[in-house]
Amino acid sequence: MGLICGCWSCFFKSPKQYDSNLPFSKPDFLDHPPEGMTIHPTPIERYKQVFYICETKYFKIHFVEKDKDLAFNSAKEVDSAYERLADWYQHQLITPYEIYLLPDKSTIYRVTGETRDLGGVVTQRRGTMFIASQYYNIQTVKHELSHLFLRKKLRERKVPIWFNEGLAEYLSTPKVNSDYVQNFIFKKLQNANNLYTWRDLERNIMLRDASLTYTEVLSIILFLNHRYGEDKLKELLELYSGRNYHQSFIGAMSQVYGKSQIDLEQEWLDFVKKCSFQK
Ligand SMILES: [Zn+2]
Repeated sequence: MGLICGCWSCFFKSPKQYDSNLPFSKPDFLDHPPEGMTIHPTPIERYKQVFYICETKYFKIHFVEKDKDLAFNSAKEVDSAYERLADWYQHQLITPYEIYLLPDKSTIYRVTGETRDLGGVVTQRRGTMFIASQYYNIQTVKHELSHLFLRKKLRERKVPIWFNEGLAEYLSTPKVNSDYVQNFIFKKLQNANNLYTWRDLERNIMLRDASLTYTEVLSIILFLNHRYGEDKLKELLELYSGRNYHQSFIGAMSQVYGKSQIDLEQEWLDFVKKCSFQK
């Protein structure tokens, strides 16, 4: 890794190479960054693009010149998103964490190997988050960060997909605990022809029927919080992340909620049918 970095910096510090390989004029924001922004003086070339780097308290945001306004807006909102999640999880990540705003389809393909248009194509690799710039929004960043916090908090221990995705949705959906959002979620599920079982959701089907599956996994977390309180959710994470805890996730869940997974799933299903989350 050090070697690769070394190559890049040599590449860009050599005036000859600089001239022949980087046919761009120095953008204005390098000399006059927006107020309060820190931008690296030297861009880097990756994925056949020239990326500038804007640094915040917890992030390094990589962006191409056309996405500069997006990057500067992002820089204003990512730190508070990080702090809210760190507070919720009672955990810190190794920072600065790198975000790449990918400018176009061919760059997305170079990074992810993905040719389909997946909407907010996002992927995480080796401590880096890649987001298609045209789909950037702070909810996406929060969703992906939630996965990362959970993984680090639990030291890579396994959790069910419904739990991982449900929690990410829970922690990234604006006003998730409002009656309005909860009504919307549960009405949508009541109108669905068929719900997936928790076991179905483990079979890698999330993206196949994303509109329903993501609503469903969020509803599971909302149900658990409504009936047992959000503190139980945090208690579950504390228990399961314990260094001396060796039970499965399902075991930890039964211990914290006092119910088997089968019973919890049945309670959730009854709850969805009645849509009865009156407080
Ligand atoms: Zn996700």
